[in-house]
Amino acid sequence: KTEGLDLDKLSKLIEQLYLKVPTADGAREALKRYTSESHVAGTDGDYRSAVNLLEEWADLLDIEIPSNLTELVFDAGSPESVKYMTEYTHARAWTDTYSVWLNYPINSSLTLSAAPTEEDPNPEPHFVASMKEDVLDEDPTSGHGVPVFHGYSRSGSATGQIVYAGMGRKEDFEGLAAKGIDLKGKIVLVTYGGVFRGLKVRAAQEAGAIACLIYSDPVEDGSVTIANGYEPYPKGPARNPSAVQRGSVQALSFYPGDPATPGKPSYRNATRLDPDEADSLPKIPSLPISYQDALPLLQSLKGKGVLAAEINDRFPGALPDVEYWTGPSEEVAHVENYVDMKVRDIWNTYAVIPGFLKDEVVVIGNHRDAWTFGAGDPSSGTAAFHEVVKGLGTLYKKGWRPLRTILIASWDAEEYGLVGSTEFGEDYAEWLREKVVAYHNVDVAVSGSELSALTSPSLAGLISDSAREVDDPLNAGQKISLDANHPVGSGSDFTVFLQHLGIASTNIGYQRQDGDPVYHYHSNYDSFAWMDKFSDPGFKKHVSIAQILGVATLRTAQPIFVPINVTAYAEELEKYLVKVEQLAVERKLDGAVDLDGLKGAIKSVQKAAAHLDSKKERLSAKIEKLLRNGGRGGDHLGDGFAISTWRDGHYGKDPRQKIRKLLVKVRQVNKVLREFEQGFIDKKGLVGREWYKHIGVAPGRWLGYGSTTFPGLTEAITLDGGKGAQFEVRRLEKHLLEIAKSLRV
Ligand code: GLU
Ligand code: CA
Ligand code: ZN
Ligand code: ZN
Repeated sequence: KTEGLDLDKLSKLIEQLYLKVPTADGAREALKRYTSESHVAGTDGDYRSAVNLLEEWADLLDIEIPSNLTELVFDAGSPESVKYMTEYTHARAWTDTYSVWLNYPINSSLTLSAAPTEEDPNPEPHFVASMKEDVLDEDPTSGHGVPVFHGYSRSGSATGQIVYAGMGRKEDFEGLAAKGIDLKGKIVLVTYGGVFRGLKVRAAQEAGAIACLIYSDPVEDGSVTIANGYEPYPKGPARNPSAVQRGSVQALSFYPGDPATPGKPSYRNATRLDPDEADSLPKIPSLPISYQDALPLLQSLKGKGVLAAEINDRFPGALPDVEYWTGPSEEVAHVENYVDMKVRDIWNTYAVIPGFLKDEVVVIGNHRDAWTFGAGDPSSGTAAFHEVVKGLGTLYKKGWRPLRTILIASWDAEEYGLVGSTEFGEDYAEWLREKVVAYHNVDVAVSGSELSALTSPSLAGLISDSAREVDDPLNAGQKISLDANHPVGSGSDFTVFLQHLGIASTNIGYQRQDGDPVYHYHSNYDSFAWMDKFSDPGFKKHVSIAQILGVATLRTAQPIFVPINVTAYAEELEKYLVKVEQLAVERKLDGAVDLDGLKGAIKSVQKAAAHLDSKKERLSAKIEKLLRNGGRGGDHLGDGFAISTWRDGHYGKDPRQKIRKLLVKVRQVNKVLREFEQGFIDKKGLVGREWYKHIGVAPGRWLGYGSTTFPGLTEAITLDGGKGAQFEVRRLEKHLLEIAKSLRV
């Protein structure tokens, strides 16, 4: 009914319909299905999960599928795959296959022996690590978990003395060097936490170590420890002493995706680098271990080297009755890590809801593969997605069609290094750059009680506004209040969209904060039993993620103007600059870098953003007026906009001419908004890691997960003593002036 059509009211109505669909039961049942068997990337369990999801999504979206689902499993790059991906005529679901390197564990061990002597050159080990997680009655899936190993770890063995290197951050290794502790030929033991694990192995390797062991020290768990009187899982919320964090050790801040095909899609017949040439892969073996298995190693260090607290205050762990020393130990450890690295198939599953506009696309995504069952990571996200697709499907079945096309993705092999999403992004780079308005990601939907968001500054408002529509599961009677403005680093599938292609991106999820039950991340205990009993009994947090994501998706797909706020982004740039200024002062480099031009360029972006906003307002006002005064009978104007016809005479002979002209202008503005973030993409990329092309924000070179704003400039100051800073200033200036120019349409 278009009489007196009020677009705002209509959108509200659609949102209200949507918000009623996601349910706790729906999410709980979905999670139970998704966690019933392990689904490590490339395995049979993973294939089944890809095809099952395809079937579920098709059902929720009323898509007809052949009885033999393998007919919808394509080779990436094949004509069918390209056709399904790029030609949207009706709702569809399908799966495509990339062929990428993955390693699986064959055999691993860790032992500790006395130092060899002349009499006994080969002493028997007095400690043999268990290298497995306990099977628990209360956690029914724990009996069919996955062996412990590191994704993309180096096959091999090593024998040597142990050195404890704290969290294994860059500064921890520098601290050891400053005390004269040599890592050459040593086996390095580090705790999880602080930075991405692959960078710990990388730093150990660069320091000359021959192997790296990473364990889960209770220092990660804050106050919820056995030492503080909490019972360990499954009886209580503290960490189970046998729990192990698996995970990839690819040095993801160099480039993510299949290590053999940086920048190119991994088709079955792709040209690949040899594992030894791949920059992002470690050259020394590594293993993840439990704190129970780390204990004898730490004890062997007692009295050797210096006390950990002398290196820095985050260096010591928190195990009771352990004095943390650096070593080297006298005793000798032997590490074996044999893995089978092969090119294997992985499967991304997709569904699409075509909008009236085929050339403006909203992408939402979540990975599906898990280290074992992955109740939190990522299946809580997959369960939330089930409710999102159900919600959009409910609207779709009522005849609703979005203005913009919605593409829904289930990525594979995220755990190995964002592989499925990266290969896809590299595959469809041009198509995505041309069409995609925004990418919304959910990885872990629930692992604790703190709702947090990472967003491009232009989308922060969209996410917090969307959250405000949703009942707060943790504060009865209130709507969710969320500060969504935190820069995006890496660590999940938004990376290729934002960092490689320059597509505005977001990520939301409830994460653990101190006081919450310990999250057994990448462990067999990230299970349905844990989620159901400890993390989201009642599944309300799953529902709220589905609701926030759904509203954000609708608000990206529905309104006449895309919800990208360039003024907010321009404001944020000033904060990035202030940060750089402070760092320059701290490092006594403030005389060496001239930031005046950059300051001016930021001002230009701010002015141009304000100009664009007022243009948008004028256009909005005109459209509103037309809609208010017109409105009798429906009339499809083509170009995606179905708008009513107008009273004769009110706007001259053919009022449709007038609205068509306005809509052309709207489309121009939307293109500028959509491409705004791409203004930060520099073809040459960041120095030393050119896959990362965004010069506004990147994962920190030595952080991995954490973000660095103005990364080239910031790291020139913090890591390279100012070398290259002036080049980075000029490069930013040039891009910002271009961005300002593009906003003046
Ligand atoms: N999210 C995964 C992890 O933290 C993969 C990250 C990556 O390799 O980029 O292990
Ligand atoms: Ca690739
Ligand atoms: Zn994940
Ligand atoms: Zn993960």
